[in-house]
Amino acid sequence: MREAEVMQIIRLEALSDNYIFLLHDQTQNIAAVVDPAEAEPVLKVLTELQAKLVAILNTHHHQDHVGGNKRLIQKFPRVTVYGGIEDRGRIPAQQVFLKEGSQVQFAERIAEVIFVPGHTRAHIAYYFPPQQAGELGDLFCGDTLFAGGCGRLFEGTPTQMVNSLDKLRSLPDDTRVWCAHEYTLNNLQFALTIDADNTDLQKRYHEVKTYRSQGKATIPSLLGVEKLTNPFLRWEQPTLQSAVNSSDPVQTFARIRGMKDKF
Ligand code: ZN
Ligand code: FE
Repeated sequence: MREAEVMQIIRLEALSDNYIFLLHDQTQNIAAVVDPAEAEPVLKVLTELQAKLVAILNTHHHQDHVGGNKRLIQKFPRVTVYGGIEDRGRIPAQQVFLKEGSQVQFAERIAEVIFVPGHTRAHIAYYFPPQQAGELGDLFCGDTLFAGGCGRLFEGTPTQMVNSLDKLRSLPDDTRVWCAHEYTLNNLQFALTIDADNTDLQKRYHEVKTYRSQGKATIPSLLGVEKLTNPFLRWEQPTLQSAVNSSDPVQTFARIRGMKDKF
């Protein structure tokens, strides 16, 4: 019997508030990187691990997610660059064009691609299901779902974003959410303005506030916690609907998003 493969996930800070995630397979000593905002922090860890970069997994074309692509390719010419099919021409050096249901293999793990337009029209997420019962799955969702929030609608409609978030929301509660920005405290401060009586939210806010005051990262979060506290996953909750004077789920979402844009 072989032992279970180990995929270590290393969280790297980049730019002002971005996270880059390095997936490291310890058996083969290979790595994949999700949304390299810049190359330096990635190259530093790869050197420390003496690991070879084999894949770049981009969620969307924004510069703070693809900014490191070119430099990483120079250092690792055989790396494969993945992104959404609708991002053709927008992601530097993209080689693989993914759509809903596509699969990406890294070492012994296989990620399922989820098409999540809204923040951009081409955005995708990568979901690694748990390998065994009782383990956690891992969702790399870029700027679609944030801890306590969601991405701005730059190229998509509220309807599209609700559909996209609904797909992410349907994943198991025991899924780690690896989003690309440390926006959690601000997101929860906003959430409290429209969902003040939510005790799960209150509790989370205080935890996150303590974490941040100690300089700790709040990512990953757990999807089960997001479902209870993130206003952008709770468009059918009567309390949120009445907070924005609507009984329509998409309109509720759109109004909450509009309020957050000005928060
Ligand atoms: Zn973005
Ligand atoms: Fe971003």
